[in-house]
Amino acid sequence: MRSRKKTRQLAFRKVLWILIPLSLIACLVTGGFLLMSYLDSKSDNDLHDDSLLQSNTSPLVLITDTQESATFTETTASSSATTAFAVTEPTTVQTQEATPVPTLLPEPTAAPVPTGPVWYNGFVDPRTVEFEIVSNPDDITVLVNKYFAVTEDYSPELVDAESSKSQKLRPEADDAWDLMRQACETDTGKTLYLTAGYSTFAQREQLFNDAVANKGVERACAKYAYPGRSEHNLGLALDIATTDSPSISGDFAGTTAGIWLAEHAHEYGFILRYPDGKSDITGYGYEAWHYRYLGATLATTLHESGQTLEEYYGKEQVMP
Ligand SMILES: [Zn+2]
Repeated sequence: MRSRKKTRQLAFRKVLWILIPLSLIACLVTGGFLLMSYLDSKSDNDLHDDSLLQSNTSPLVLITDTQESATFTETTASSSATTAFAVTEPTTVQTQEATPVPTLLPEPTAAPVPTGPVWYNGFVDPRTVEFEIVSNPDDITVLVNKYFAVTEDYSPELVDAESSKSQKLRPEADDAWDLMRQACETDTGKTLYLTAGYSTFAQREQLFNDAVANKGVERACAKYAYPGRSEHNLGLALDIATTDSPSISGDFAGTTAGIWLAEHAHEYGFILRYPDGKSDITGYGYEAWHYRYLGATLATTLHESGQTLEEYYGKEQVMP
């Protein structure tokens, strides 16, 4: 009997020795699972926070050109923040990054033009003077300068000019150009080249604005005619060089062709329009290349008197 009881006890102990470690292992495994699932859920939340941050910040990184698209992006980001999570931190980040948006999108503004006559080194800013529209723009002797203008829609009769790259001139000026060029070639062996003839109001506008932007307002006012107030708008002005040196240059005055022109241009109806030493009267610096067609009669009169066109009409520029 006793030995049977003992055998039972021994068997029970063996079962316990197996059950206890098994239940311990089971506890550990269960605990491990719980811990892992807790960590998983925690990292899931972190990931959502990151993605919220990203969804708020990444569209804002793209903020660039238009007020409209920036506003749209900002609205989208803030509404997703409100609906997805009630998390304050990402919203704060979004607000901080959204704040500079208006300052990144300034309206393009042109430099303000001063009022009243403004002078730079003896040259008046054409934008600041009171000007008059001329009543006789088709007259070949018309005075056009910083104070006398043609209208934006003025377009003279034009023909294609020889010895140029697609330049145009008024027919009277073009006939004289052909005669003068042939005479110069006969006398000097040099062929005159028309670098610039007629130009439109829009072309002049672009040239003047580019000059202000790239060369500065002082140089623009000394050298560049304002749209409507350029003799090139008349089709009667010629910027002259030679075929072997076709760009305009102050050195032109000292060349064979330049010297010939200074002596003979009036015979064909042209005058050197902006002579050296007359800037206070004409409003422009010396231009060795710019000739104006006036017809032989008036051109010869001015050549002999040494007057500028402003002096001839009694319309000299008045300096302050
Ligand atoms: Zn010119």
